[in-house]
Amino acid sequence: MAYKEIFWMACDSTEQLRAEYGPFHTRAEAEQEARKLGFHFLLRYEHIIGENDDIQEVRCIFLELPEGPATANRTAVRKLHTRCATCGESAVHDLNWQAEVWADIHEFEHSRHRVRLFEQTRAEGLKEIGNWRDLCA
Ligand SMILES: [Zn+2]
Repeated sequence: MAYKEIFWMACDSTEQLRAEYGPFHTRAEAEQEARKLGFHFLLRYEHIIGENDDIQEVRCIFLELPEGPATANRTAVRKLHTRCATCGESAVHDLNWQAEVWADIHEFEHSRHRVRLFEQTRAEGLKEIGNWRDLCA
């Protein structure tokens, strides 16, 4: 008999290039983490597992977290700010990898410049993430 395996991810949008975080076994866990990250969607994955433990089918369903219309605005989502400590050039990004790419290009084009990363959330404002290039490496 086939059976169903369900898990949950927190995600920041329903687009293809979205950030996902997880998996979680329960919706409550995923929802808690999503709120912490400022994400507005949950993704429910269903794997239909066949007799030989093979995945026969994958279904995924997006769920928007119930919130007021003001906070559902995508501009309210966590933003990443990169700013070069040397020349002051800066940019805003939605995703970690975009910040990383921006920093890589900037530091490649301007030798000895050092890019700093800041995270902006509604709750905490702008906060620097130290040693972030080391974390990514
Ligand atoms: Zn610079």
